[in-house]
Amino acid sequence: MRATVMPKAHEVRVENVPDAVIQNPTDAVIRIARACICGSDLWPYNGGPNVEDQRMGHEAIGVVEDVGGEVQTIRRGQVVIMPFAYSDGSCMFCEEGLQTSCVHGGFFGNGGEPGGAQAEALRIPQADGTLYALPVGEDDALMPSLLTLSDVMGTGHHAAVTAQVTPGKPVAVVGDGAVGICGVIAAKRLNAEQIIIMGRHPDRIALAKEFGATDVVSERGKEAIERVRDLTGGFGVHSVLECVGAEQAMTTAMGIVRPGGAIGRVGVPHYGPIDLSTTLFYHNVTIAGGPAPVRAYIDELLPDVMEGLIDPGRVFDRTVDLDGVPDGYRAMNEREALKVMIRP
Ligand SMILES: [Zn+2]
Repeated sequence: MRATVMPKAHEVRVENVPDAVIQNPTDAVIRIARACICGSDLWPYNGGPNVEDQRMGHEAIGVVEDVGGEVQTIRRGQVVIMPFAYSDGSCMFCEEGLQTSCVHGGFFGNGGEPGGAQAEALRIPQADGTLYALPVGEDDALMPSLLTLSDVMGTGHHAAVTAQVTPGKPVAVVGDGAVGICGVIAAKRLNAEQIIIMGRHPDRIALAKEFGATDVVSERGKEAIERVRDLTGGFGVHSVLECVGAEQAMTTAMGIVRPGGAIGRVGVPHYGPIDLSTTLFYHNVTIAGGPAPVRAYIDELLPDVMEGLIDPGRVFDRTVDLDGVPDGYRAMNEREALKVMIRP
């Protein structure tokens, strides 16, 4: 079968690799119907920690082709969402809805043994706990939005939840990438009234406004912090969704959160210690967030997608086949595409 491999930074190849097969009785094998490229895939692409010949891709919808002997609920032929982390669905953390900390869990497309979803097929460990069977066929018109439940929409929602978005209280979203835009959707969905999007790409800002952003701040650094304060009566926002992971984004987040507020960070942090801890202490600021337990959020978000109340699939502005994946990385890296969908 064919799969996407990143041998080193700035190099993406689609190669022939051994077929995905059942290895453990709790495994399933899915044929990938849709996958996509994540902003976090661009970190290794740009020289972040690389694993030699790393298999890429951690977001997918697939069709179950095979199941191991101990798989109870997942069946051949089902159309399933594959969250970016696999989990057994039964340990203490899974029961608490924190599947990303599952004691038998791990992450796809991260250089580990499970491989990646930007491929023709993938072995899924802990199939019963990991996969979420959908009530639709693989060519359903809702596929783009359903695909976002494997990561980007669940991650935007996690940013909103951990930033304690509360009806009527002001929100700022740092970053206008696909996660930031899903953060706007999530904040609106949780009935925030004022939603400030912080970014500078006109087409992304336009999409964020359609999804409910009320104010735009395109400045950076100190000017950005001042603008947000101006927009919020001088005190900053109650909730900050930090959807980038870069140091400047976190510095901005800490500069615009008001006393008693919260920062929900979902961008993988690419910075060292967090400064301003004394200031944040005296302001009673909560810093929360981490990898989103998207498996837990599907129950909550799926009905809204099925009823058309939210349409996060609009973050995809380009579709490629497997041969087009290397150019998809280039296009996302050059900000020519917001988010690239893959139909193997
Ligand atoms: Zn678990």
